[in-house]
Amino acid sequence: MANNVRVRYAPSPTGHLHIGGARTALFNYLFAKRYGGKFIIRIEDTDMKRHVADAERSQLDNLRWLGIEWDESVDKDGGYGPYRSMERLHLYQPFLERLLAEGKAYPCFCSEEELLAEREAQRAAGETPRYSGKCSLLSPEERERRMAEGIPYAIRFRVPKGVELSFTDLIRGFVSFRSDDIGDFVIVKQDGAPTYNFAVTIDDMLMEISHVIRGEEHLSNTPRQLLIYRALGAKAPEFAHLPLILNQDRQKMSKRDESIIQFVEQYREMGYLPEAIINFLSLLGWSPEGEREIFSLKELEEIFSIERVSKSPAVFDTDKLAWMNNHYMKEADPALITEQALPHLVKAGYIEEPITEEKRRWVGQLVALYQEKLHYAAEIVPFTKMFFEEPSSWDDEAMEIMNGSGVREVLSSFLRKLEEEKGFTPENVKELLKEVQKETGQKGKNLFMPIRVAATGEVYGPDLNHTLSLLGRENVKKRLLASLSKTK
Ligand code: GLU
Repeated sequence: MANNVRVRYAPSPTGHLHIGGARTALFNYLFAKRYGGKFIIRIEDTDMKRHVADAERSQLDNLRWLGIEWDESVDKDGGYGPYRSMERLHLYQPFLERLLAEGKAYPCFCSEEELLAEREAQRAAGETPRYSGKCSLLSPEERERRMAEGIPYAIRFRVPKGVELSFTDLIRGFVSFRSDDIGDFVIVKQDGAPTYNFAVTIDDMLMEISHVIRGEEHLSNTPRQLLIYRALGAKAPEFAHLPLILNQDRQKMSKRDESIIQFVEQYREMGYLPEAIINFLSLLGWSPEGEREIFSLKELEEIFSIERVSKSPAVFDTDKLAWMNNHYMKEADPALITEQALPHLVKAGYIEEPITEEKRRWVGQLVALYQEKLHYAAEIVPFTKMFFEEPSSWDDEAMEIMNGSGVREVLSSFLRKLEEEKGFTPENVKELLKEVQKETGQKGKNLFMPIRVAATGEVYGPDLNHTLSLLGRENVKKRLLASLSKTK
């Protein structure tokens, strides 16, 4: 690999950090780490109409939370700044002037309406809509005249005819476009803002980007960028276009599809762990040698290689993400999971603020009961509902258990034991249940199932001694009494 590897993730602040953007950032980061290069984050804010106020913060905050650190960006000058496109207008200007002076770009006075009508006519005639090149034919005098008149104009790049634009994509191999299929495109809009294709080319060039690693949706922009490099006599970077990310139905993922959670901060809010998201993202298009699937960021930094990125689309499998998160949650420090679970329990109205040490300890024990099962922290709420809400009705399976013989004896006996003023730790509960067994002669399922159903309303659940202990003596008493009144 060439020395001086410099790669960049270049989000437009038109939205929060999307799972696809995070994957692009991660692969760039890993590539930089692997080859001892620099990872840069550049904010491509040329599309002012679609600007979302909080987007830049969301991008940076969430990348940092994931552990994807950058070497240069808006908050870390590496000598190639500024790192927001709109703060770089003065840097684009000389290149624009050069292209204009050399006749490689020209002002276009066509209005939106004219362009729209032109495109519609081309579509109606079954042609691919493309700028006709009308304004490229204006005489210098005519241009002067229109400018003097104050007619608004954009600047277009003059696409040369008959040029083959090819490159070897590090993922897709040989890729080739014909310039004849590309209409003269706008490089500076009427409002003076550069377009993405122009800004990105000059920025990549001036920031000495060695490899452009980005989503496949940008593949069709690459020939335009190659044309600009060519016009400026500059060497283009290497390109690697990452495969598309499809949803579980194998459709291209749409940011508007609200049925799938697609933004990193949503996962963060639900209590996903950054390690799991990183691991999951790394496998969206890349695969290591062998069968192993669990990797830390540090490990990925050592083994990631662009050669093992596939060109076929990756499928965003939310079940796999949940499975992976469960893997990391099981291994995590219980105190961390407790901290993550607490706000969800508060939001559900299950735990009241302020969180005293006693409450924190109790929640810690509750979380410990479910840590193995949790896919993400917010799941603690449905899992633990029965601790906070009286069981309402029994399902068929529970009903059958509660109609069994000896159930009333078991419940009554346990109720009597609960009157004894002893502690109510899981060990105490175990002792009490042993006494009930002795007193009633019921054991195993016949003993535990009715008590579980009576106390929790459910047939299955975590360890009974711990569950009852956490419910507390008074709760258990109350629920047992209510259940007794419902059994024959
Ligand atoms: N600003 C572009 C985007 O958000 C990045 C394109 C590129 O990496 O060249 O999709």
